[in-house]
Amino acid sequence: MSNFNHLSRRRFIATAGATALSSVLLKACGNPPEDKPTITSANVARINLPAEQVPETTKVKLGYLPIVEAAPLIIAKEKGFFAKYGMTDVDISKQANWGAARDNVKIGSAAGGIDGGQWQMPMPYLISEGIITDNLKVPMYVLLQLNTQGNAIAVADKHKGKGLTLKVEKAKEFFEKTKAEGAKFKAAYTFPKANQEFWIRYWLAANGVDPDTDIELLTVPAAQTVANMKTGTMDAFSTGDPWPYRIVKEKIGFISALTAEIWKAHPEEYLAMRADWVDKNPKATKSMLKAIMEAQQWCDNFDNRKELIQIVSTKNYFGVDPEILQEPMMGKYDMGDGRTIDDKSMAPLYWKDAKGNVSYPYQSHDLWFLTESVRWGFLPKDSLAKAKDLIKKVNREDLWREAAKEAGFSDIPTSTSRGIEEFFDGTKFDPENPQAYLDSLKIKKA
Ligand code: CA
Repeated sequence: MSNFNHLSRRRFIATAGATALSSVLLKACGNPPEDKPTITSANVARINLPAEQVPETTKVKLGYLPIVEAAPLIIAKEKGFFAKYGMTDVDISKQANWGAARDNVKIGSAAGGIDGGQWQMPMPYLISEGIITDNLKVPMYVLLQLNTQGNAIAVADKHKGKGLTLKVEKAKEFFEKTKAEGAKFKAAYTFPKANQEFWIRYWLAANGVDPDTDIELLTVPAAQTVANMKTGTMDAFSTGDPWPYRIVKEKIGFISALTAEIWKAHPEEYLAMRADWVDKNPKATKSMLKAIMEAQQWCDNFDNRKELIQIVSTKNYFGVDPEILQEPMMGKYDMGDGRTIDDKSMAPLYWKDAKGNVSYPYQSHDLWFLTESVRWGFLPKDSLAKAKDLIKKVNREDLWREAAKEAGFSDIPTSTSRGIEEFFDGTKFDPENPQAYLDSLKIKKA
């Protein structure tokens, strides 16, 4: 064992960055060597990897979007967790929008794109099947869930006082009026047929509004959302923090519902990679997973959230005023319509939530996203019958499990299913019977 340690020590000193190396040496000076190397800090631990866990490559390029979902990736890099597990050359690359992320993963890093990164669901499935990549199938693996919650539906200020909240009593009346007046309510998201569109659709449909006939749905790039809400070309917008709170603080809108209210501890965004990269670099994949899991644990310590905000809000990453993230990251939301929420369990969470583990990619959640895609006619009806096989191919919860075990993390879920899920309107989704869920819904296309 100690021979292996010496070998990997040499190898890692050779590849370590200058800063990391000097802190390793400083630590080494401070702690006289013993028989067994002592793990005293992230940097020292990095050189103590067992030989069988030494990654095939130290390099990977991950795309991200500047919203709270990306925090574990940024923290894994900035707090040295990637380096700790031997991934000393991780490039965290900001993507202009979701379409750009998709185009970049389609070409891969060798062609100037990315190897994987942050995704809304079911994007990795749609890319694997060639559905959003001009029929070019780019197999991907879903490896880890980045976060839960931290998303909301913001509504333009002019609709304040009309009762547009989580449960809209007179929703049908309101939306029929706007429709009759020839000014259909316009609800936007940053990428179609994924999380943000699903949250708007779920919220409206549960309130008796048919999103396909009663309103207009559109895709708007995040950078244009504030302007579009100001000029009135958009009535509602579904996205991740800090955008909804920014809309409230700039007094151009209010938050009708947090996604945490629509479905507490709901699945949100994921880490997914090109399958060819993972197949070629299984150890590096697990190193990356361990680093992100450790970052997620760090993020969920609320004592660290001030530092988290400082790191992610810098120009290199989100480029926002850190003040705008302060309250949402602590579960404090001024909804802008008189409603306030002050509950840490409603904040964006990364490792643990009301239901258990956040990071583990439950196959039952992938099934919900595919079922919801069938509900709205985004995928053909027979997709439901094929869903289980597709999920087995794309969802690599086995790698998450192996990585968590190797790293010695606790809280490893025992099942690939989180069981029956319940939404704010009382609707239930039983992963054992997705058809029963579809049958129970009044408003749907399928
Ligand atoms: Ca999101």
